[in-house]
Amino acid sequence: MQLIVGNWKMHGTLDKARELARGIARSKVPIGARLVIAPPFPFLDVVKKEITNLWITLGAQDTAIEKDGPFTGQVSAEMLADVGCEWVIVGHSERRAHCHETDEVVAKKVAAGMRAGLNVIACCGETLAEREAGRHEEVVARQVRAVIAGRKDLENMAVAYEPVWAIGTGHVATPEQAGAMHRRVRATIAETISPEVAASAVVIYGGSVKPDNMEALAATEGVDGALVGGASLETRSFLAIAENAVKGEAKRSK
Ligand code: PEP
Repeated sequence: MQLIVGNWKMHGTLDKARELARGIARSKVPIGARLVIAPPFPFLDVVKKEITNLWITLGAQDTAIEKDGPFTGQVSAEMLADVGCEWVIVGHSERRAHCHETDEVVAKKVAAGMRAGLNVIACCGETLAEREAGRHEEVVARQVRAVIAGRKDLENMAVAYEPVWAIGTGHVATPEQAGAMHRRVRATIAETISPEVAASAVVIYGGSVKPDNMEALAATEGVDGALVGGASLETRSFLAIAENAVKGEAKRSK
């Protein structure tokens, strides 16, 4: 089963969000895929009303750590659950870079999502400088350890490996690069929790995923889906990614 998550980031208008959600909801979700769409906060409620398809669920792009209180501008995980979110993305590299979110903050956000009963997509990934310095495995292992420490299982969590140099750049990781890093993520889970949990963990890839590169990525052992930015803003490309993900996974198991 491929998990395909559309991160709409800070794009669009209410009308466009409604139209896009409607287009996706009225499409046939390929068997073998489940979709999550994560619009900006103000559009969550409207998008929720559009998605009546069982294989499509609503996600948010971030959560506050606290449950409620005097935190102007923040949105709690409980509020997200209240408007129908089933997922929340935490630790996206754009938040790590622009909002200075540390591993510690991201770990607290994972806990906040779980506290509210949400499924959490925890993002990790190295910068180009870290990769060029040969530190990519070490950085990603550290980021993963921070979000899984103290957990016995990862039932309500997916890990998104998103190399920062691939996000929004058109430079997708090769299937070999993605496969190697997904193995590193799983090895970290095996060391920190258990090999059984590592084997069943959901690890998805993100970074310039498009319909034409998804099949090869999903044909790679250990790639359980994709976190998609730009290509999730168009119904046809988002659905084509889901279709090609299913095709790729089918190739793998032959
Ligand atoms: C993302 O936002 O997580 C992302 C991977 O963006 P893009 O697909 O545009 O590279």
